[in-house]
Amino acid sequence: MYPDERRILLTPGPVVFSIDNLRYMLSTVYEHTSIDFAEIYGRAIKKFRSIIGANGNFPVFMFSGSGTLAMEASLINILKPGSRVLVVSHGFFGDRWAEIARVNGYDVKVLYSDVGDIVDLGFIAEELSKGGYDALLVTHVETSTGVRADVRSLASIASKYNTLIFVDGVSSVAAEPLDCSRWGVDVLVTTSQKALETPPGVSIVALCTSRAVKALEANNGNVRSFYMRLSDWRKVMEAYEDGRISYHATPPTHLIVALERALTRILEEGLEARFKRHYILAKALREGIRALGLEVVAKREEIASNTVTAVYTPQGVDPIELRRRLARGNIIIALPLHPALRGKSFRIGHMGSVNHNDIVAVVALLERTLASMGVKIELGSGLRAVQQILLTENL
Ligand SMILES: *Cc1c(COP(=O)(O)O)cnc(C)c1O
Repeated sequence: MYPDERRILLTPGPVVFSIDNLRYMLSTVYEHTSIDFAEIYGRAIKKFRSIIGANGNFPVFMFSGSGTLAMEASLINILKPGSRVLVVSHGFFGDRWAEIARVNGYDVKVLYSDVGDIVDLGFIAEELSKGGYDALLVTHVETSTGVRADVRSLASIASKYNTLIFVDGVSSVAAEPLDCSRWGVDVLVTTSQKALETPPGVSIVALCTSRAVKALEANNGNVRSFYMRLSDWRKVMEAYEDGRISYHATPPTHLIVALERALTRILEEGLEARFKRHYILAKALREGIRALGLEVVAKREEIASNTVTAVYTPQGVDPIELRRRLARGNIIIALPLHPALRGKSFRIGHMGSVNHNDIVAVVALLERTLASMGVKIELGSGLRAVQQILLTENL
């Protein structure tokens, strides 16, 4: 059975793609050996750099794969074998950084936060000050709990201790403020299907400092992967940027076309306006949820992300049943990923093309559905809180 095209998809990836982006993608078949395609690719790279605040011509890599491949490719190309890494984990995707580093033979230490919280900056600085760490791995927005790390401060701490910082920006790029080169984020990874509003299938790795470029070059001979060897991809990416053809492996041609269009639309909206839209919608959603008497997993407003919200289900409500009922009402939410949140929470993704109607609709259906499941709820109480914020913030 195919899903209803009028349903509202509020999962933290894939997100709803604009029909306009998809139309460009389907306008013709693009061969990766044409100048037309190379030019589109080159523009996508340049636009991506401006969205993340990467100065100059620092390398940006885009190839077939998902966010996880981008994480792995970045590590094995930039870190020497046997490097020591410190992982700051706020949940499921922080743990993924640690596991990727472990299977690739790095010496890994992990600092864990409580669920819904972030690791204290002073604690991280103290660990780095012991010396010997080659890299600090962090997740900008931890999609399993909906918390946002203070990447700017982490980058400045990492630089103080001469440690490269790798940031998983999969759930933050193009939705949360991020100024890669100015903040001193050495390596940023992301993928197409989250706030970049493009179908899944593009792995993206960006180097934003000369320190990262030097590390990549110094590690050239050590990379034990052919497909992921970034020194090869670098020649290809440089060729595309100059409007020339080169080849390492076939890129996801249609997705690059859709991505280039999506990046154009993102820049047309304007980054400031886009970040503000995400902030207001996220705040309206959290206030609506709290007004229903539900608890948001993120422990404090300052660390609550603007792209995904994890929520504790009320006593006696099974998240699987809640998700099923919401889906019957044509709104799709996500189940928990974090082991400590299984069976007692749900997640709402609100990144990319999300708008005020989505937030109004999800809170309205949520209050009606919970009421139908026997939770004591005053109909309209969540909506009133949402409307109040949308009204005062003038969105
Ligand atoms: C979705 C996600 C990933 C994994 O991306 P895939 O495309 O599924 O491989 C990694 N990190 C974060 C923060 C994510 O939200």
